[in-house]
Amino acid sequence: MKYRLASLSFAAVMLWLAVVSFTNSSVPEEKPRNIILMIGDGMGLSQLSSAFYYGNGEPNFARFPIVGLSRTSASSDKITDSAAGATALSTGKKTYNGAIGVDAKKKSVETLIEYFAAKGLSNGLVATSSITHATPASFYAHVKKRKMQDEIAEHLVQSNVDFFAGGGQKFFKIGEGDNDLTEMLRAKDFVINTQKLDVELPYNNANKYGYLLAKDGMPTMENDRGDFLKRASLLALECLSKNEKGFFLVIEGSQIDWGGHANNASYVISETLDFDQTVGAVLDFAKEDGNTLVIVTADHETGGFTLKAKLKKVPFGGSKPDYDEIDPSFSTGGHSAALVPVLAYGPGAEMFSGIYQNTAIHQKIVRLSSP
Ligand code: MG
Ligand code: MG
Ligand code: ZN
Repeated sequence: MKYRLASLSFAAVMLWLAVVSFTNSSVPEEKPRNIILMIGDGMGLSQLSSAFYYGNGEPNFARFPIVGLSRTSASSDKITDSAAGATALSTGKKTYNGAIGVDAKKKSVETLIEYFAAKGLSNGLVATSSITHATPASFYAHVKKRKMQDEIAEHLVQSNVDFFAGGGQKFFKIGEGDNDLTEMLRAKDFVINTQKLDVELPYNNANKYGYLLAKDGMPTMENDRGDFLKRASLLALECLSKNEKGFFLVIEGSQIDWGGHANNASYVISETLDFDQTVGAVLDFAKEDGNTLVIVTADHETGGFTLKAKLKKVPFGGSKPDYDEIDPSFSTGGHSAALVPVLAYGPGAEMFSGIYQNTAIHQKIVRLSSP
């Protein structure tokens, strides 16, 4: 009897130890002050791999210690669009394709920017699309359809975003008197610039900045966008770092997806390399800061992109693949159902290893930022 009691209490202690170590490994004690979520729109594993073959030297993607895979399906379809994909990341809810910040029943759901603003953190958005496009919009707007970009721009004015940079002037009614949304933003203490990125902050002692630098999407890399994404991201970091409570920043490499839709390999690769350069600058910041978690992922894969071997003609007819030459190719003009990579660096990064739903990325972020 005594022996049985002893073994029972031994079992209880083991169970307690198991529970404690499980809790410890699932939510680390060390939590980040700042969280940066970087989204390569349409960036599947082949797109990410292209940076290893077409870049100058080792890509910054290789600097991440933790890797996971995200399952991207929407509630409505096996293959997600950008709206449902970003809404899953932003709200933790699977929803239908086209939904921005609303659940499958079209009900508004709290976005990560709303969540962090309520905790007193600053929030920022940088994209190479219009700032009202599906991916960035899903972090601050609530509309039934992604096409409602005029309404989405109005939601940006009402939102808790402190810094934004991207395109989308045409949705802000610039010069239309009382309807001019940029004037409404100025009334909310924003410095708005539609010409260029300011290099020096603070400007007029402001702490909110909005950059709308193209009518709709920003130019492509192949059309001389230059280092906009990297510089805008660094500017965002400088601006948002002023908040001692921390910040949440979303950075989107929007046009990797557009290159995929166009089945244009050099478009995809140049946009991926630009995103990787930005990842490098963000990682340098996080390394220096020591209190910043960086997560890099995608909303879905675009183009069914693959790095296949080039087919070479052989003597006497026929052909065979040359394993030393890559022929980047596509299988669709749309999105695919492939799982997408998740890379993580900084306090809490270890929570991002494994295979999980895109909504789990939201849950992990929330768990890492709650007391
Ligand atoms: Mg997308
Ligand atoms: Mg996008
Ligand atoms: Zn797309």
